[in-house]
Amino acid sequence: MKQYLQNKWVEIDVDVVKGNLEAIKTLLEERTRLVAVLKADAYGHGAVNIARLLFQQGVDFFAVSFLGEAMEIRKGGIRASILVFSPMVDEDQVKEAIKNKLTLTIASLYDSQLIDEVSRRLNQKVSVHLKVETGLGRFGMNGEELISVCNSLKENPNIYIEGIYTHMAEAAASDASYTEGQFSSFMEIIQSLSAAGFRIPVKHCANSAVFLKYPHMHLDAVRIGTLLSGQYPAGSFSQTLSLADPFKFKSQIIALRNRKAGTYLGYYRSYRMKNPAQIAVIPVGYNDGLALEVANKPEGFIDLLKKLVKMVLFYFDSPRYSLYIKIKGRAYPLRGKIFMQMALIEIPLNVGVSVGDEVEIPLRKTLIAKNISRIYLRDGAAVKIEDEDGTSYVVEGV
Ligand SMILES: *Cc1c(COP(=O)(O)O)cnc(C)c1O
Repeated sequence: MKQYLQNKWVEIDVDVVKGNLEAIKTLLEERTRLVAVLKADAYGHGAVNIARLLFQQGVDFFAVSFLGEAMEIRKGGIRASILVFSPMVDEDQVKEAIKNKLTLTIASLYDSQLIDEVSRRLNQKVSVHLKVETGLGRFGMNGEELISVCNSLKENPNIYIEGIYTHMAEAAASDASYTEGQFSSFMEIIQSLSAAGFRIPVKHCANSAVFLKYPHMHLDAVRIGTLLSGQYPAGSFSQTLSLADPFKFKSQIIALRNRKAGTYLGYYRSYRMKNPAQIAVIPVGYNDGLALEVANKPEGFIDLLKKLVKMVLFYFDSPRYSLYIKIKGRAYPLRGKIFMQMALIEIPLNVGVSVGDEVEIPLRKTLIAKNISRIYLRDGAAVKIEDEDGTSYVVEGV
């Protein structure tokens, strides 16, 4: 078992993933397709196995950010559609994508020319989705560019314009006006394309937040990532689906010692023990994403204050804002500065623990390295997940 080489692994409950899919389907209209977004290794859950699992449940359209992510899923035996959100940068990438029947995004005139050329040269068909820029400032074209792309691509019989989409900037925010504005721009552009004779079958603009808050924006497809992983997007939502988190990061105590009050723990003597206690070492540190937060600049003064308050609560060990590690269902605090690959836990003297005991650690799923085994469980037992042909794969680490 691979996890015994690492003393850390991830457990994913496949029935919980299925339950999340079922919960999402309750809000899905007949005409709307579900595109399962499996970027960032399916938000840390393992893209290939989650794709297989969802395919078994009837999901037949996937999306990722990058070519490499799409190739990994394709090589994992998934023949369903895979849309790549970000543009290909050169001919080699387009070639690889077309050969592997990936669905490509055209977000600029450059993308359009590149795909046009390569598909002619290979004489192979390719499905594309046009990306419309409506206010995120990332990828996409304006109305004029879209018309010109549609006009030039209609000469190329190898290119099938299957879809058109945009991406919302602040759908989780309480103020709907910016999102509604983006939606109106998107619909206007679709109207003007249609007036020019270009009717594109699959129109989509909804991520998880849009899906929950704006049913009229579901259109022909919704692109769902966060909800499938059992979480709500940041923000407040009136819709309450019955979602659950399928994901647990686990490790083991690798060393244990009783320490006296006054003992210093960690680099720079970062913690001084107040009481005698047991100190357990776990093989998990900031290299695994422990205690790391995304370092965005505060968005204005209120946000700055919120961040400061959190830091102060963290400083005073307030339970909601401190890191606690669970052992046998009870939570214990981390002590001292977190090491690159290790951390220390303080456990009272009267608690029976020993080396090898399992610990559960709250980590940001998307930061956990891909070489950490993902183990898929049903009713607590490891399962194999089949690909489209029914080939059963031995899941890594089992
Ligand atoms: C990540 C992403 C999604 C999915 O967003 P969630 O909020 O995780 O559901 C949809 N569309 C695009 C373009 C994305 O980058």
